[in-house]
Amino acid sequence: MTAAMNEKTIKTTCPYCGVGCGIVATVDDAIGHQVTIQGDPDHPSNFGKLCSKGSALGDTVSTENRLLHPEVHCIPCDWNTALDTVADGLTSVIRQYGPDAIAFYVSGQLLTEDYYVVNKFMKGFIGSANIDTNSRLCMSSAVTGYKRAFGADAVPCSYEDLEAAELIVLTGSNTAWCHPIVFQRIRKAKENNPALKIVVIDPRRTATCDSADLHLTIKPGMDGLLFNGLLTYLAQTDALDNDYIAAHTQDFEWALQSARNTAGNIEIVAQDCGLSSADVEKFYGWYAKTAKTVTVYSQGVNQSSSGSDKCNAIINCHLATGRIGKPGMGPFSFTGQPNAMGGREVGGLANTLAAHMELDNPEHIDRVARFWQTDRIATRPGLKAVELFDAIDAGTIKAVWIIATNPVVTLPDADKVKNALKRCNLVIVSDCIKNTDTVDLAHIRLPAAGWSEKAGTVTNMERRISRQRPLFPFSGLAKPDWWIISQVAARMGFKHAFDYRSSADIFREHAALSGFENNLEGQPRDFDISAFADLTEDAYDRLQPVQWPVTKKNPNGTERLFTDGKFYTASRKARFIAIRPRAPVNKPDPNYPFTLNTGRLRDQWHTMTRTGLSAKLNAHKPEPFVEIHPLDAARYHLQTHDLATISSLWGNMIARVVITENQQPGSLFVPMHWTAQFSSRGRVGALVNPVIDPHSGQPESKQTPAAITPYRAL
Ligand code: SF4
Repeated sequence: MTAAMNEKTIKTTCPYCGVGCGIVATVDDAIGHQVTIQGDPDHPSNFGKLCSKGSALGDTVSTENRLLHPEVHCIPCDWNTALDTVADGLTSVIRQYGPDAIAFYVSGQLLTEDYYVVNKFMKGFIGSANIDTNSRLCMSSAVTGYKRAFGADAVPCSYEDLEAAELIVLTGSNTAWCHPIVFQRIRKAKENNPALKIVVIDPRRTATCDSADLHLTIKPGMDGLLFNGLLTYLAQTDALDNDYIAAHTQDFEWALQSARNTAGNIEIVAQDCGLSSADVEKFYGWYAKTAKTVTVYSQGVNQSSSGSDKCNAIINCHLATGRIGKPGMGPFSFTGQPNAMGGREVGGLANTLAAHMELDNPEHIDRVARFWQTDRIATRPGLKAVELFDAIDAGTIKAVWIIATNPVVTLPDADKVKNALKRCNLVIVSDCIKNTDTVDLAHIRLPAAGWSEKAGTVTNMERRISRQRPLFPFSGLAKPDWWIISQVAARMGFKHAFDYRSSADIFREHAALSGFENNLEGQPRDFDISAFADLTEDAYDRLQPVQWPVTKKNPNGTERLFTDGKFYTASRKARFIAIRPRAPVNKPDPNYPFTLNTGRLRDQWHTMTRTGLSAKLNAHKPEPFVEIHPLDAARYHLQTHDLATISSLWGNMIARVVITENQQPGSLFVPMHWTAQFSSRGRVGALVNPVIDPHSGQPESKQTPAAITPYRAL
């Protein structure tokens, strides 16, 4: 290679899914915004591999469609003007209506340092917890499930467990498309060990099913019943680990009784799940006999009005068999976003505080307040995503600051969200993109630095913290999110607490809080990275991927949790949760006879603001489409390539018809990605019912009653 004089290679992390692949980026300072992307062979998440999206990152780093300067009421201005306007606007709302009249809606795209600072500002200094995140739509039910079972939001497994497993159950997870590099690792594991069995539980036949030994085409929303049936079966067939249950768990009988009451008979479970008894028995039999079992669950489980209960039904089966904390075993939730896990670390959800502390725990509130040296800290949980936009719609929230996300497209009942923002007194949006559906509604637009410009850390779904490093200088007047927040905080009188010079400063503070008085409750805390509290700038720059907890005693991190059978509950025992399975809240009816499912495509990311810039990625699926079973297509007079109108009680859209037996009769599938920016045919979020899980607040995005008719232009 004739390396140009200005060429340099930089190790960073992919900004898309929760797999968290390491990247080696080669840039030439003389050429401008061009980069060659390769997988980092040394990164333990991907060992040099990248999927289609990661490989195409070079297509997405141009300044095309970038927001390059601040704007107030569509007039470009300098930073001082914009920041003063934001600070004055927020101060005025607080004075008139109190801190709860302010809201933030942020994103799993933020780096941990950005996430920490915005939560500190809102919860610690504005004094309200009305700050939630788009991760609420992705994994909040998994968080609730872990907290109820383990006493902490602690993902027990590593990717190595998938490779060591002899049975992998993938439920509600199109892993092949949504977490492609982990799926490649699973496929490789199967090549190396033909005895490894893969069970896929999904109403649709997806690309993941190509590698499955058994595909259970479960009726939408019935996972809780299926896993309750499994717990009953394990007890009936003497497959329980009674010693483990006695030594390390509590409330088993309560959970088993509930499982027996609701799913005591395989035939009835199979019938209610829309499956054959033989297939259910095969799955249960494999599970009962295979010690090394990992159950992976993702949005198909979480995005449900009973998502938390489904997660606990899965965890119950692992606790009942002692399959946790050992190689090749465990309940493993897959998160969608690159830093969903980092957001969880810093209290990114409206009901949590930094360092995995809780807003419903006075001791935690007191501890964080003393660490931040504030007397203004929020003292109760705030509004979760759907409720938060309802409050904007109702006019009780007067000002909202949206950062790095596009709720006008992605939230359920998205037309209501759009109208709420149109009516809101003050809408501030920080984004690196110039014109998303949400940016278009902002009174104040703040240009944020993009992926290729920011420095910080992200944590992937196996708790691995990796560095994101800048490839280019900031475009235009763009700034890091933590800088923007800190500048506003300083203008509102909190300079002393937001006097950061770099992302390393913030990371050290975040690490110090994770170890602050961590023996106060007489038991170890799950999230502890206090080993990094004194990291030098240089060491932060060189930080290697590492899985938390990382303490001075344990400086190389932790591959697997609960190896000693001790959990983070008061008793140090894991809790079984009694589950009463519930069907989706809104059921199909004669007007809306289909169940509409939404999801991701292989080559697009969220609302396409970056992946939509790549011709190669757009070629995979070039326009919005709806998948329908051939019998339904015939009944509704739809042909392949027709346009169809899909409607629900909440909204409608137009999409190209794809007829496929991968769909079950009575169901439709529409991808989540298209927006007004890329299509004039509407967005699926407008159709999705705004029902939420009562424990986690996660919306039921997978099951909305819907109708389909051939499209007729007016
Ligand atoms: Fe990026 Fe996820 Fe693909 Fe890895 S698997 S390259 S993290 S999108």
